Amino acid sequence: MQIHRLKLSGFKSFVEPAELRIEPGLTGVVGPNGCGKSNLLEAIRWVMGETSAKSMRSGGMEDVIFAGTSTRPPRDFAEVVLHAQDDAGDELVVTRRIERGAGSAYRVNGRDVRAKDVALTFADAATGAHSPALVSQGKIAQVIAARPAERRAMLEEAAGIAGLHVRRKDAESKLRGAEANLARLEDLMAGLDAQIASLKRQAKQAERYTELTGRIQAAEARLLFARWREAAAAAKAARAAAEAAEARVAEAQKTVEMPSPWRAMNLPTGATMPPPTGTAWRRSPKSSMPRRPGFAISNASAPGSRKTARTPTG
Ligand code: ATP
Repeated sequence: MQIHRLKLSGFKSFVEPAELRIEPGLTGVVGPNGCGKSNLLEAIRWVMGETSAKSMRSGGMEDVIFAGTSTRPPRDFAEVVLHAQDDAGDELVVTRRIERGAGSAYRVNGRDVRAKDVALTFADAATGAHSPALVSQGKIAQVIAARPAERRAMLEEAAGIAGLHVRRKDAESKLRGAEANLARLEDLMAGLDAQIASLKRQAKQAERYTELTGRIQAAEARLLFARWREAAAAAKAARAAAEAAEARVAEAQKTVEMPSPWRAMNLPTGATMPPPTGTAWRRSPKSSMPRRPGFAISNASAPGSRKTARTPTG
């Protein structure tokens, strides 16, 4: 990877947009103490995805934004754009921007990406924010005093396998995440097993309820049908009785309408009905009823005898 341009705006002491060109060969930045030479190298590491505010000589990451001076107000954001050419000769434009209260955002060739995508891009090119290729102040002393593991990391990066390490770390963290998810899933499944058992019990109860409800409904229907049949039979019997009664009433009416002996005899109404044949007819002294023509009724034909004697009269 060949870095050939760096643009800064609002980054540390670079309040105005500034551009650093890195031409082929050796490029040097010369200036008095405190003019911002180290800020340039920090800008390169920052745009490559540096996450440590301490290594940027700041208390917090937002401290990289121009803090203002007695004559200039502070800025709200800082932006660093790095132009490079990758090993395949393609142009690579990496941008990092930080705003107060909003954190950092990255873009690679105008496309929003994650911080770790940027780190991977530079790791594949055997460089990056923590690469020994970037030697900052005091770094030489660090390399001399480095532990074997740190030296090994430097050698691996020089050999171009740093990207593989980043990927391995990424894969390991994914594996850990998957393991944690698996453990959580097992917990959830244990909870679900208990729920399944409870739901099975409820389903059985519901089935039994449905079956019993059906049987109760069938029994109720049979009971209602039996009652209806009884009621229908009772109604039929009552109708038959009513018809018989009506017939008797009609018969009685016919009898009433027949010419009575009273009318034939021209008797006054209120007269007593003649007694049946063979019965002694006793006339009330006050009665105005005349004797039956042709017969005289006497009870005294034989003393002590109850036999009625009929004697023809006039
Ligand atoms: P030296 O040669 O002494 O190492 P240098 O040229 O590397 O100095 P730097 O250390 O890069 O200079 O820059 C330090 C300057 O940057 C200081 O003047 C400091 O005030 C200024 N500076 C750092 N952070 C900010 C900021 N957030 N806002 C404004 N100015 C800042």
